[in-house]
Amino acid sequence: MARRERVTILGATGSIGVSTLDVLAGQRERFEVHALTADTNVDQLTAQCLEHRPAHAVMVDPEAGAALRDRLHRAGCATEVQVGAAALVAVSEAPEVDVVMAAIVGAAGLLPTLAAAQAGKRLLLANKEALVMSGALLMDAVAQSGATLLPVDSEHNAIFQCLPAGYRCADPVAPHGAERIWLTASGGPFRERPLDRFDGITPDEACAHPNWEMGRKISVDSATMMNKGLEVIEARWLFALEPAAIQVVLHPQSIIHSMVAYSDGSVLAQLGNPDMRTPIAHCLAWPERIASGVAPLDLFAVGRLDFAAPSLERFPCLRLAFEALRAGGTATTVLNAANEVAVAAFLAERIPFTAIARLIEATLAVIVPAQADSLSGILAADAQARDYAHSWVSAPITER
Ligand code: NAD
Ligand code: MG
Repeated sequence: MARRERVTILGATGSIGVSTLDVLAGQRERFEVHALTADTNVDQLTAQCLEHRPAHAVMVDPEAGAALRDRLHRAGCATEVQVGAAALVAVSEAPEVDVVMAAIVGAAGLLPTLAAAQAGKRLLLANKEALVMSGALLMDAVAQSGATLLPVDSEHNAIFQCLPAGYRCADPVAPHGAERIWLTASGGPFRERPLDRFDGITPDEACAHPNWEMGRKISVDSATMMNKGLEVIEARWLFALEPAAIQVVLHPQSIIHSMVAYSDGSVLAQLGNPDMRTPIAHCLAWPERIASGVAPLDLFAVGRLDFAAPSLERFPCLRLAFEALRAGGTATTVLNAANEVAVAAFLAERIPFTAIARLIEATLAVIVPAQADSLSGILAADAQARDYAHSWVSAPITER
């Protein structure tokens, strides 16, 4: 019998981490959990370790890590607990690991994700911010190590499924006859809200996504449609596309997860219920198929599928993402950093919803993009953009 594949989950306590463990719980003969990581959530990581018995657990916060170690020890669980961000890299690149699920939110996921790529793992990429910050570096690392990069983000997973068997991420799609891609977007909770009522939007309203249950950062990104902007940049790297070949279409039902248009006029789409366990199971088993626990799609219940063009007036963040992509270099690193600061400030009720786009636009106007060809250059652009964005948040309202 073949040995079971060993899986590390970066960001195990998040929405994607929990869905991944749910799929793995039904596939114990095929996979074993090697390591689980979290930032601070002791209760949840304790429960996950007791259920899945990983060899390693990493808690970034040292105090939370001490509490986790104590609880697991008292429960007689042999999981070895490490603390600190460097341990995230260790459990990503460890030789005994086969599969890494990169599901930390934001720039914090970059280094362990890059480490998994450099170590040639089967890399299941949910952490889109890593590609937006440093697409060239991450794709180079994959090419050099021979890592298998599989997109978890539902749209990119759909596109990957609509490309021919044998297609590998980073290959240009044009030689396969694919001319453009359609990235579908639900339009989030504010697709129809009158624009003059945008200033009163609360964090809870922004996080109440009509179709998907997700972490708070990506939920706000969906409400501003920056999520789609980040996904346009993600698609540019995963499928080696020109910006002009990437089309965003509003599709409020979130049943078609994205589409590929071919030179003969064919358009291939991937459909399914909006549940991340489908793309997660696809990536875990690719090129095979396994059960995910997702209910079968009931087309009679869905009834209809609608499409519309997104308004860039309503969703200025989408325009900013296209502009940063066209500017190139570290412009997308700056976009991502400013967005992370803006979303955190909005969630902390320090800035209104409509200030998110203004803050990102101001940051992009001030920080001149540089070449994005080294990790130190990327981290410097990220830090510079965060400094500027923090000062913008703290500035008197009249000055922003
Ligand atoms: P989440 O907020 O629910 O979970 C984030 C995870 O990252 C948690 O386990 C948390 O402990 C960990 N984390 C947070 N900050 C950290 C830090 N500084 N250092 C180390 N670990 C840290 O987020 P999510 O919704 O699961 O999203 C995770 C990633 O997947 C994001 O990049 C998101 O864009 C992407 N994604 C999510 C979905 C979804 O449906 N949730 C879909 C597509 C892509
Ligand atoms: Mg998505």
